[in-house]
Amino acid sequence: MLNKNIETFIGCDNEYGESGLVIFGAPFDSTTSFRPGTRFASKTMRSESFGIETYSPYQDKDLEDIAVFDGGDLELSFGNTEKALTQIEQFTAKVLEDDKIPCMIGGEHLVTLGAIRAVAKKHPDLHVIQFDAHADLREDYLGETLSHATVIHRVWDILGDDRIFQFGIRSGDRSEFQWGQDHVFTNKFNFNGLEDVIAKLQGKPVYLTIDLDVLDPSVFPGTGTPEAGGVSFMELLQAMLQVSELNIVGCDINELSPIYDQSGVSTAVACKVLRELLLAVN
Ligand code: MN
Ligand code: MN
Repeated sequence: MLNKNIETFIGCDNEYGESGLVIFGAPFDSTTSFRPGTRFASKTMRSESFGIETYSPYQDKDLEDIAVFDGGDLELSFGNTEKALTQIEQFTAKVLEDDKIPCMIGGEHLVTLGAIRAVAKKHPDLHVIQFDAHADLREDYLGETLSHATVIHRVWDILGDDRIFQFGIRSGDRSEFQWGQDHVFTNKFNFNGLEDVIAKLQGKPVYLTIDLDVLDPSVFPGTGTPEAGGVSFMELLQAMLQVSELNIVGCDINELSPIYDQSGVSTAVACKVLRELLLAVN
């Protein structure tokens, strides 16, 4: 029998109805402040994913043993940021309505706002854990309030104080860090304190957003705003596995820009992060 030529992320070829996890691409990079290109992340990851295994020796779990639906890429309105966010919100809402966990592949980090708008409607007590090199707490960036440099401030607009927990942060302007002290928990440079946060968030609905530039550029150069002094792959993996003990109701990975790493290593790293994330939150 012949099958349609449809490429999914490796091991994520289940039907929608049978899947507890839904991955989808949000190929949006219109507000990127420095070097765009994240719109190509999800497509590139699907094709390059066939270079990794479905089996994780870290978790002794296999993507073949869990049910993940790959919804492909959303067709987003370039040039209309608010509309693109609404499209992401609507798709995420549909997935949540069907009692599945949305796992989005960005895109630049602003796409997280669209997903969290939907998740916070379903879970008003939502808490957010952010792994990132950048604080993303600006009130606006060059006058624009919707930007990948403001995304976590916009998430705070929805959730309020004491709901956002940042790790790995090593870049931002002084006012971001000062504002953050009163409104969010920020752990600079690494994952210190993650255990305490996990103890505190037991039983709460949690959204995990992983800006892949939290990784050191030596591991992950394929991103628009690389920032030296980042964490290793194993440190990120360990942190993801710890967070996965919580009630994860949505997640994303973002900011892979495949074109800035012609070796393809960054894309391979992103694929491995996604595999481990899916296996961990399932
Ligand atoms: Mn970010
Ligand atoms: Mn970042």
